[in-house]
Amino acid sequence: MAVPKRKTTPSKRGMRRSHDALKAEAFQECPNCGELKRPHHMCTACGHYNGREIISPAD
Ligand SMILES: [Zn+2]
Repeated sequence: MAVPKRKTTPSKRGMRRSHDALKAEAFQECPNCGELKRPHHMCTACGHYNGREIISPAD
């Protein structure tokens, strides 16, 4: 089995992990009801997407 010759230095490990951080989830206001919703997703409060109702809110 192939095995690393040298231990990864704290510097190299840090460089690798510099891209690992999670970003805050994106959100925007629903144009229909004003609730916060995820972009490119149907509004969970009023069921609207792209200017029309996809499902009824009572669903
Ligand atoms: Zn809405």
